[in-house]
This record gives sequence, structure tokens and C-alpha cells, in this order.
Amino acid sequence: MALTNRCDLACAHCYAPKSRDALRFDIVTQWLAELDSLGAFGVGFGGGEPTLYPEFERLCQHVARETGLSVSFTTHGHHIDEGLAEGLSGSVNFVRVSMDGVGETYESIRRRSFPALLARLKHIRSICRFGVNVVINERTLPDLNEAAIVAEDAGACELLLLPQIPVSGVPGITPYILHGLRRWVDDYRGALKLCINEASAEGFPTCNPLIEERGLRAYAHIDAMGVLKHSSYAETGIPLGEGSLLPGLDQLAHDLAENDT
Ligand code: SF4
Repeated sequence: MALTNRCDLACAHCYAPKSRDALRFDIVTQWLAELDSLGAFGVGFGGGEPTLYPEFERLCQHVARETGLSVSFTTHGHHIDEGLAEGLSGSVNFVRVSMDGVGETYESIRRRSFPALLARLKHIRSICRFGVNVVINERTLPDLNEAAIVAEDAGACELLLLPQIPVSGVPGITPYILHGLRRWVDDYRGALKLCINEASAEGFPTCNPLIEERGLRAYAHIDAMGVLKHSSYAETGIPLGEGSLLPGLDQLAHDLAENDT
């Protein structure tokens, strides 16, 4: 769930619309109660930057208290201080921190201090287990060894590899860089669990413990305008309004099946 489109960074590869749209707290909690009753495993909050959602801490606490859903979120990390970490501790099961490369590479992409990010990782580590996300392109692939070492030293347990998706004006990952990423994965001997998004997984050695759960059975995305999509990259979907989520899921499944035939 993209709680808000607000973000104070301006990464070139960003696909989130730069608008002030945000989901309403009461509607989010209503959808999450419904998903919980349907047997969903968990919710991942994102954005934009989810820590800029005004009631983010209260929302995570609510989900942990009122549902059986696991809670994770993806963040650039720069707003997580001691106070927010304390507020989220016990309510969040996993944090994903975006870290595209290290040092100057990171700073040229995110326009934030890399040492400042490392300081934030100490607070993030105190919340729960965390992983690091790296958008893979020609600038970040050469840093991947060092990024994995930095992440492991900071206490991360997972490295999520995200081959760059084309967005307006920014090209997707090239075949040459993708080939380099496959070789890097084959050679990796570190302790981090390596993960990749399903859409980019072809050609990588993957292990899926829930093989019947693919596509919409495994994942659906709700953007900050309340549109249900099969992926966060999808341009169209089903506007949910303020009602139940299930008819929207059925409609989206139906539309996807029609497109396949
Ligand atoms: S931090 Fe995330 S949401 Fe913000 S601009 Fe960068 S990629 Fe987009």
C-alpha cells in the first residue's frame, strides 16, 4: 500500500507520482481488516515515503494490535530517529531500506549523505530485522559488492535486487548490466539472503516456497489514490472508492485473465 505520494527526495528512477495524494486512515484500516479476514499474510507500506504519512506510527501499532497481518515497510530511512524507532518497535516485522550503491554513488542518486544513512540504520536495526533494496543500473552494479558488505556489517539480513524499470525519461536496465547482475549473483558468497522482484526473476536461481502463489494470488498493490493494481509499476487498475476490497480484487483478476487470452 502506497500510503502517500509525498516524498522529500527526487531520485531519477522514481516511478511514484509526485503529488500530495494519501490514503485515509479509516479506509486503510478497513481494507486491512478485510484482508486479515480473507487470510492474507501481511501488508507492506510504501509510498512515496511512508514515514511522511502523518499517522504512520499509529497505523503500524493498530495493524499489529487488531490484525494477524505481518507489517513491513519500504523507506529511504532518513526520518527514522530514536523516537520513531521506539514507536515502531513491536509493531513492525520487517523494514526495507533503499540504498542504491554506496558513498558518492548513493549521494549522487539520492542527494542525501551516505554517512547519515548509516547512522539511521542503527535506529532501524533497533526496530526489527531489516533488509536493503538496491535499484540495479550501470551506476549501482559496480558498487554491489561493497553495498552487500556495508549492509551485512550494519546488521541487514536481506539484499533485494531491483533491476531498474523504465520510467518516463529513464531507461530500464540494459541486457549487459542484467547479465552482469546474474554473474554477480552466481558469484555471491556472503551471508545475506538475496531476493529479486518476480517480474525480473527470469534467469536467476530462485526458491519459491509457495509455488501456487504467483501473480495476484501473491501480491497486489494499492496506490496512494486508492487504485488497486497487479503491480506497483502498472499504470492502470481498479479504483476502490471507500467500499470493500474483494470486488476490486475479483475485477482485477478478471481483467488480467481477459488480457491474457
Ligand atoms: S525515496 Fe523512493 S519515493 Fe522518494 S523519490 Fe526516491 S524512489 Fe521515489
